[in-house]
Amino acid sequence: MGFKDPARGFKRREFMAQEKLQIIPLGGLGEFGMNCLALRWADDIIVIDAGLMFPESELLGVDIVVPDITYLMENRHMVRAIVLTHGHEDHIGGLPWILSEINVPVFGTEFTLAYVEGKLEEHRLLDNATLNEMLPGRRFTLGPFSIMPIRVTHSLVDCVALAIHTPVGVVIHTGDFKVDMTPGDGRPFDLHAFAEYGKQGVLALLQDSTNVDRGGYTPSEAAVRPRLDEIFSQTKQKLFFSCFSSSIHRMKIAMELAAQHGRKVVMVGRSIDNSSEIAQDLGYLDLPNGLVINPGQMKDFPANKLCIFISGTQGEPMSALSRAAVNNHKNVTILPGDTVLLSSRVIPGNEKSIFRMIDHLYRREAQVIYDDGHSGLIHVSGHGSQEELRLMINLVKPKFFIPVHGDYRHLRQHAKLAEATGIPEKTILLEDGEILELDRNSVRKNGKVTAGRVCIDSGGSTADVVEDIVIRDRRHLSEDGIVLPIIAINKLSGRVEGALEIVTRGFAASDDQMIREARQIVSRTLDSSSSEEKADYGVIKEKIRTDLKRYIQKNTSRRPLIMPVILEI
Ligand SMILES: [Zn+2]
Ligand SMILES: [Zn+2]
Repeated sequence: MGFKDPARGFKRREFMAQEKLQIIPLGGLGEFGMNCLALRWADDIIVIDAGLMFPESELLGVDIVVPDITYLMENRHMVRAIVLTHGHEDHIGGLPWILSEINVPVFGTEFTLAYVEGKLEEHRLLDNATLNEMLPGRRFTLGPFSIMPIRVTHSLVDCVALAIHTPVGVVIHTGDFKVDMTPGDGRPFDLHAFAEYGKQGVLALLQDSTNVDRGGYTPSEAAVRPRLDEIFSQTKQKLFFSCFSSSIHRMKIAMELAAQHGRKVVMVGRSIDNSSEIAQDLGYLDLPNGLVINPGQMKDFPANKLCIFISGTQGEPMSALSRAAVNNHKNVTILPGDTVLLSSRVIPGNEKSIFRMIDHLYRREAQVIYDDGHSGLIHVSGHGSQEELRLMINLVKPKFFIPVHGDYRHLRQHAKLAEATGIPEKTILLEDGEILELDRNSVRKNGKVTAGRVCIDSGGSTADVVEDIVIRDRRHLSEDGIVLPIIAINKLSGRVEGALEIVTRGFAASDDQMIREARQIVSRTLDSSSSEEKADYGVIKEKIRTDLKRYIQKNTSRRPLIMPVILEI
């Protein structure tokens, strides 16, 4: 053809313009938690991780926060799968919510899927879910994407990074990682795979920013053993050991120490029970026969022969440890001289509830060992520090670098760190909802999709059905209203003073009968609580909220926001 066809040329340009890879974060870029990121090529979308976030205190009355997935719902016919990097809540916790909206296949490693199964079972979504196991080092294809899971190390086991082969090049998403050279499960970080990709050429690296403000290297999970050993040998009575239930390496170390020091292990708390069961089933915990006993058998052993694994390091009001701290747990009692070891960090935002719980533990005259800066190495982070982040950039040698997982300041600091290595051609600061378009040679932001946070009230019981999941956004608030039980409590005596009031807005405001009954429910909750619980506002508010919610949901079809207000007098 000797002449130009302007129309065809235009069409062709448009077609070319469409041939771009889009990276669209829906959560985790601009906050910690609810990690979720979409990758799109033409009419195919894959989603990496589907996390949740625990609500900040200003969102009282809400159980969990998940990413807004409007974009995925609008393009539901294009979504091929959700691929999970590992089993932490900030990566899988939003799955029940997302799968109930768009039921797509889920890919994860064996251990990750074991957590996912339990979660979906709870929400009665398991029967309809399609779960596919993926193995590190074994590539699989989803539409135009071909995905290679690469083994990494972290505080949890069976974690992977993802190398995603796309028509314009390889994109590597690290997931959460640290470079642990002595992993507790003997499954090493696959540095070679990353180096190999670096040799072949990597278009973009998306890397975990969590610990970008820490210099040096993060210690191995094994590094806590000497100090824990010391604590085990110094403890004269019962030892209460608390860590995140997903910290399998940590649990393994503590169980081995319990066996060495002749202590029987007792599991208290549902999450810790579940988690250790999965870890045993999949071969991550090899416990000698007779090491673990039931809570009922504790009375047959002297205090110095017991180690109680108990959940609730963050002072969560309804956790086993918080309840034991106010002497309100049916199976365990903390006595003077017992030791409580919190093998965890104080997560920013949780200080109040954690220190309140520690105060209660001291009132029981227990010895409390927690991460106060001079308790020795009782906890290590699961995320890589600056040197590990630099190491990964050096191995992978990406053309473009995109920090993920963190508040904006972390993302920014991480971009600076990457620039200082002199390796990436360009670093890009991306936030939730922004569309990043890439081809082989260039990258640019091009528009936005709907993104944000959705607050979910998961209902009073843990065995809730999916229909019970309610979006607690502004629209629902205006439909279902607000209920404010107002209670005056004497801080010193823990006694309730004056009349209990219930104020409602937009909810059953005219129904006197209902208000009367709701008042009785709250009174009953207060009567059944110890004065110590009543003096602990976090605990008492949560108890009132739970009981009242159950009552209102049973008697009406509405789901008002319930926010107990405690007046201290
Ligand atoms: Zn993690
Ligand atoms: Zn994470």
